[in-house]
Amino acid sequence: MESKPVMESTSLVDAKGLRDRYVGSLRSDDVGKRVTVCGWVARVREHGEHLVFVDVRDYSGIVQVVAHSSVELRSEFVVRVAGTVAKRPEGTDNSSLATGEIELTDTAIEVLSEAEPSPFSLQDRAEIDEATRLRFRFLDLRRERMQQNIRVRAKINSAIRASMERQGFTEIETPLLWTPTPEGAREFVVPSRLHLGSSYVLPQSPQLAKQLLMVAGFDRYYQIARCLRDEDLRADRQFEFTQLDLEASFVTQRDVMSFISDAVTAASQAAGIPLEGEIGAITWKDAMDRFGVDKPDMRYGNELIDVTSVFAGTSIRALSAPCLKALVAPNPSSLTRSRLDNLVDRAKSLGAKGLLWLRVIPGSDGLQLESPVSKFLTEDESKNLVAATNVSDGDVILIVGDEWQKACEVLGQLRIDLGRNQANPGEFRYVWVIDFPLFEGIDEEGRLVSTHHPFTMPNQEDFDKLASDPLSVRSQSYDLVLNGWELGSGSIRIHRGDIQSRIFSLLGVTEEEASNRFGFLLEAFKYGAPPHGGFAFGIDRLTALLVGEENIREVIAFPKTQSGSDLMTGAPKQIEAKVWDLLGLSVKPQKKDLS
Ligand code: ASP
Repeated sequence: MESKPVMESTSLVDAKGLRDRYVGSLRSDDVGKRVTVCGWVARVREHGEHLVFVDVRDYSGIVQVVAHSSVELRSEFVVRVAGTVAKRPEGTDNSSLATGEIELTDTAIEVLSEAEPSPFSLQDRAEIDEATRLRFRFLDLRRERMQQNIRVRAKINSAIRASMERQGFTEIETPLLWTPTPEGAREFVVPSRLHLGSSYVLPQSPQLAKQLLMVAGFDRYYQIARCLRDEDLRADRQFEFTQLDLEASFVTQRDVMSFISDAVTAASQAAGIPLEGEIGAITWKDAMDRFGVDKPDMRYGNELIDVTSVFAGTSIRALSAPCLKALVAPNPSSLTRSRLDNLVDRAKSLGAKGLLWLRVIPGSDGLQLESPVSKFLTEDESKNLVAATNVSDGDVILIVGDEWQKACEVLGQLRIDLGRNQANPGEFRYVWVIDFPLFEGIDEEGRLVSTHHPFTMPNQEDFDKLASDPLSVRSQSYDLVLNGWELGSGSIRIHRGDIQSRIFSLLGVTEEEASNRFGFLLEAFKYGAPPHGGFAFGIDRLTALLVGEENIREVIAFPKTQSGSDLMTGAPKQIEAKVWDLLGLSVKPQKKDLS
């Protein structure tokens, strides 16, 4: 276990109560002092006939305690040790420990709690099955890595708060017992005891509350907010998550982006990752065109290349499509015939009709292309493709032909599949993605679907296309992306009831439904709503990326499993019939246990 103090910013000498020092603060300057420390027994080692070395750990580090072997100690016993700080004997220093030059001698050890043997090793490097870790989360959290993650998270929160305060934002809490909002996620429902048959929902985000705070004149609001969404869980998703949520009045998109840039810069610094320079921006259209995703990982190149014009007159069926996108594969030598066949299958599973590969080989007269379609390629097509993709001997070109967006998306995913390990994990590349389409498509019932949420203001220039060509309307919304992960999104909002009603009607929300569900927002807009906009980014995800974890569960003290269970408390649990009665509800017998 590493022993470097995990909270350098806290004064470790300021211990109180049962102890007067934290173990990690002891140094050779303290030699000769009598101190009392408290902590857990990390390890006991026999030393000679009558002596044992006991490593005592608290959150700040580890100290070696020399004790009589008569003391009955086992790992994870909780002890209080009074001892004298002494220099370790010549040649026994441990340079990997911050306290490695000293030890406590002349000790009196009091056992404050005994401990059963731990179900797993608390040594940091040990690999432990996650279910066991979650079942005994209180022990898992005792480990150095988890202590670090949770403490860095606290520092990030604190830096974000400081950034917000500096920028004139006021922290305001909004209700957890709330009302449904159309932000796209399934909501958790909380039945009301006093209003039988009615229920609250837990907020997917404070979206409408923060807009109301703008109508209320708060000007700049923020909150480190819990959001709850009853959605299937994944590595980067939990039912409840935390985000920095903000909203400001009389601002432009640029202002909101600058508030957030300040906050993430502060958060990165708090995690020991300085962020230099401004965060760049790319339009959604460019991101799709060049990277095939709306959350591009900017740490590596391999951009998509449009080769539609190269094959304008082609006789090859697979290449006669409205749009042809090409990707020059990284690591072409690893692409054996069978891996290429796998890539073709992968492209099809992503919805492509096919994938064409062409390997660049030396020919008698310059470069040639080897491919299942080689013999149908004209000389000009080969030459122009080589020039357009700027390839050299040994490269492999992958081509997908389809509608523009589909071709971009499929090849964008292959770029990620093939390029992932090209990215330097120590590099942090933020990018803004702007100018999203207002609507992402049309659902099965023929209704438009918002890309962000229905409160997003359309781009002024595209207003007149709302009726004629709604799918081409851009919105005033923006996402922040870090290393290929969407950290969060925001938008300038609709602040006028007439525009909001128009968008609701395009989304197929009837007037009655709108007034039932968001009547309070539309009503508020009648009483002088300032133009406003905001943003929210996920703190779980940001922290995970900054501390180098792949899974957000590693930065959440008490997360749920992928199937939504809490293995430590056993939640969710069956509820007694009398509780359902009180809520005026009953539960239908279940055919199968869905947990
Ligand atoms: N409410 C949005 C979300 O949680 C963010 C925003 O538009 O401010 O994603």
